[in-house]
Amino acid sequence: MNIHEYQAKQLFEKFGVATPKGIVASTAEEAGKAAREIGGPGLVVKAQIHAGGRGKGTFKNGFKGGVHVVDTPEQAQEIAGKMLGQTLVTHQTGPEGKLVSKVLIAKSVDISKEYYFAILFDRGSSGHAIIASTEGGMNIEEVAEKTPEKIIKEFIHPTLGLQAYQCRKVAAALGLRGALAGQAGKLFTALWNLYLKSDCSLVEINPLAITTDNQVVALDAKFNFDDNALYRQKDVTEMRDKTEEDPREVAASEFGLNYIGLDGNIACLVNGAGLAMSTMDIIKFHGGEPANFLDVGGGATKEQVTAAFKIILGDPNVKGILVNIFGGIMDCNIIATGIIAAAQETSLNIPLVVRLEGNNVEAGKATLAASGLKITSADDLTDAAKKIVAAVA
Ligand code: GDP
Ligand code: MN
Repeated sequence: MNIHEYQAKQLFEKFGVATPKGIVASTAEEAGKAAREIGGPGLVVKAQIHAGGRGKGTFKNGFKGGVHVVDTPEQAQEIAGKMLGQTLVTHQTGPEGKLVSKVLIAKSVDISKEYYFAILFDRGSSGHAIIASTEGGMNIEEVAEKTPEKIIKEFIHPTLGLQAYQCRKVAAALGLRGALAGQAGKLFTALWNLYLKSDCSLVEINPLAITTDNQVVALDAKFNFDDNALYRQKDVTEMRDKTEEDPREVAASEFGLNYIGLDGNIACLVNGAGLAMSTMDIIKFHGGEPANFLDVGGGATKEQVTAAFKIILGDPNVKGILVNIFGGIMDCNIIATGIIAAAQETSLNIPLVVRLEGNNVEAGKATLAASGLKITSADDLTDAAKKIVAAVA
């Protein structure tokens, strides 16, 4: 899960990460009021979307830049009016862009140097790591590719956490000395606490800025949270903005389904993540391409199966469906009933191959056969994969 920059700022304040004061606004008038409250001169107006590269982005109506530094509250209001309700395209949004429905008004600071600083979960070392660079405000992937020597990496011990010496080491590597190094260390520690306590998988500050009056402040924020820990992060979950997410994945999560859209044309409906992975593998093995990963869970209901069918069929690339259910906890007959209801409700008109195995499988197969629907039954995984690949060919 991601959050907006204005929400990240709330977390920064809570954990003591230095950042300029900001207020979020949904209308130009609100933006003007927020700007007067913060007070000029020197304000920054920032489009709130779940994507970076806003500064260099362009609105679909031709207006340039999703980040503007202005002098007066009147100017802030005017710029906010130009951004709100418009679609901003950046190198991260794709050509369709993202609708701006909120702007952040913040106190602008005078920047003397920009840095990159992030804490993330590093799969390579199976632990948390700091990534920092003197090349701030730029696309970090590009820095890593062209000038890898400018990337600083520091691993964080899983139980000891971020140590004071590591803060000094990273600050020194960034060229920070004296009081600035002290301030940076304080910010790194506060950010580490935030990262750990909020179950983040990424906090990225780009730029981390040194101001002309020698303050170290976070000027931007990108967060990723571990979805599997959201159950214990009530404050974070409340920050979720579903309008920013893939609508199919939002619908799936509302029904407790694990859905991830892919590029192929064979939709899969499977119970259990491991079985879902093997189903995708065997489809590929027989020359097909899966359209999605979908795990309906161990004890799916008729409603969940119907919801799953609707989500699958919402993808125009889907040319056939493979249902692969192993009835362990689940009763195959309930699944069969769910499949029939879903097929009828969605007026299914593409090939459907069903492989059922396990608990009450005979009754399940009989129910499918008696439905009169055009359902191809399969005996095992290989048989099922071959049949669906042939059906969509
Ligand atoms: P992004 O383009 O989506 O990554 O948005 P950022 O928040 O990083 O803003 C883009 C750029 O705008 C930054 O790299 C800064 O150079 C500049 N910027 C952001 N906030 C301020 C500010 O308060 N004062 C000044 N002078 N520039 C800012
Ligand atoms: Mn940025």
